[in-house]
Amino acid sequence: MSELILTKNQYLEVEKLALGAFQPLTGFMNEDQFHSVTDNMRLPNGEPFPLPVALDLTPDQASNIKGLPTVALVFEGEEIGTLKPEDQFKCDRENASLKIFGTEDPNHPGVAYFRGGGGVFAGGSVSLTKRVEFEYSKEERTPAETRALFAARGWKRIVGFQTRNTPHRAHEYLQRVGLEHVDGLFVQPLVGRKKKGDYTPAAILAGYRALIDDFYQSDRVVFGILSTWMRYAGPREAVFHAIIRRNYGCTHFIVGRDHAGVGDYYDKYAAHDLTKRFDGELGIEIFRLKGPYHCAACDGIVTEQTCPHETTLPSAVTHISGTDIRAMLVGGRTPEPHLIRPEIIAALEGVPLFVLEDEA
Ligand SMILES: [Zn+2]
Repeated sequence: MSELILTKNQYLEVEKLALGAFQPLTGFMNEDQFHSVTDNMRLPNGEPFPLPVALDLTPDQASNIKGLPTVALVFEGEEIGTLKPEDQFKCDRENASLKIFGTEDPNHPGVAYFRGGGGVFAGGSVSLTKRVEFEYSKEERTPAETRALFAARGWKRIVGFQTRNTPHRAHEYLQRVGLEHVDGLFVQPLVGRKKKGDYTPAAILAGYRALIDDFYQSDRVVFGILSTWMRYAGPREAVFHAIIRRNYGCTHFIVGRDHAGVGDYYDKYAAHDLTKRFDGELGIEIFRLKGPYHCAACDGIVTEQTCPHETTLPSAVTHISGTDIRAMLVGGRTPEPHLIRPEIIAALEGVPLFVLEDEA
């Protein structure tokens, strides 16, 4: 059988497709699906799907598998599954970037990755014979496993939480608000290919362990990583993240400020607006939450829904972002306790905090 050698990132995509994380997809998108999703955020049958899941090949790779019924997928010398090639196609990547990311700016990391791809997309269904193995594999759960776990705990309503950060006070607030409304919380940090300066999986894990074990009712929380890559597609990616969490068995999903954003490319609540357009169609309900931030006048973590001081006393307000906390930690400053719990800072002691260079 002919072979196609995959990158780690492509292998992770095959795995997610095969495990049902990207349902209703069972393979890489064909040309019709790709254009339908890029243009309309829907599959050809009308079902919402906001981002392409496409196998990006070099022209040589593409011509080697053209017309074959089945191709062995190989990672680091080992066969991990198969692809049944369906079609091959190209697209105008600048134009597609504008639709997917709202910008064609090559400084946008998602755009840079997309525009730097191989040149030819190959559609087709996949099968998986070997799971991805990496340092944190034991922290990952499959959709079947989380569904079984939620059922075993008797949970009917489960809220999913997406993150790329070690937990700070704003994320903790969002999670607690979520927990007020449902039976359980599923914290699912995304740990796929990262860019320089992102938190390491080790830092995310250590921080959440400290938070869940000592500050939450740990039997109301499930933790499991999601090994896929950030697209940095902002609002469209918020919808994608919600669909993924539906597939893992969540009934609700938290979308906060600037979900899946990067830099200043997206309005802070653009993801709220876009998810609203799909209300009732996603199979998961979106908790659209504002803020939160710390207010010295209110003396706590609040939101623009509950505190007036963002406009009347801006000096009292400190916005909490993973990026700012990261900058403090990189600069050797300890973030203040109202931004991140000292217990979490302590848990990070000796843990490599940040990715040192862009991953392939
Ligand atoms: Zn206030």
